[in-house]
Amino acid sequence: MRIALISDIHGNLEALTEVLSDIEKQKVDKIHCLGDVLGYGSDPVACLHLIEKHCDIKLIGNHEYAVLGLVSTDNYNTAARTAADWTRDQLTDVELALISDYEMMRSVENITLVHASPNEPDRWHYLLTPDVASRAFGGFDDRICFHGHTHVPTIFVELAEGLPRVIAGHSFLPGEDNRYLINIGSVGQPRDNDPRACYVTFETEEYEVEYHRVEYDIAAAQSKMAQADLPEMLINRLSFGR
Ligand code: ZN
Repeated sequence: MRIALISDIHGNLEALTEVLSDIEKQKVDKIHCLGDVLGYGSDPVACLHLIEKHCDIKLIGNHEYAVLGLVSTDNYNTAARTAADWTRDQLTDVELALISDYEMMRSVENITLVHASPNEPDRWHYLLTPDVASRAFGGFDDRICFHGHTHVPTIFVELAEGLPRVIAGHSFLPGEDNRYLINIGSVGQPRDNDPRACYVTFETEEYEVEYHRVEYDIAAAQSKMAQADLPEMLINRLSFGR
């Protein structure tokens, strides 16, 4: 089976639309979403409904968790908090009901899916260092865990001894004897200095991981964010992918 994995859309409808049409060309059997459909961008409602229509498994991200009032936004920076409050105001009970059904973590087809980290998934750890990744490897049994959250495509490889090795996210055939934590990058707010939307396809029998980058109308997304009076820092970063 061939699946597509998307994450961190963040209300960016222009990016999501292009990614979904790119995925259509990939002839996948299923699309799974790893969370943070909203927050930052100008179209949380439209994005939630597109995800509902196209995705099979839908996981909860920290931004959905915040919108449901399950985690405080007190330690967010000002831009993130402004965007979170604005986002919450756009939603009706219909969208809140959709989000309430999102799952925290899933194991399917011998892979684990989670938004942030498979150990303590509701603590939203950022898998940025080998130290943090080493604890995360204890949180799942499958050979591969796909995740999002940092918006940076990375691959951690578990080693027989010592801390996991980290490499930049790239298409590859995972080795039979290794275990991996694979960050699939962000659709709506990439942070690896490449502004193009990012997603991954995975072939569950051949075990092939493929990264895809998709151009979208960044200027259109930015002008809608400006109209909605969303923070300038969030608008600008889309141009640079950081
Ligand atoms: Zn995110």
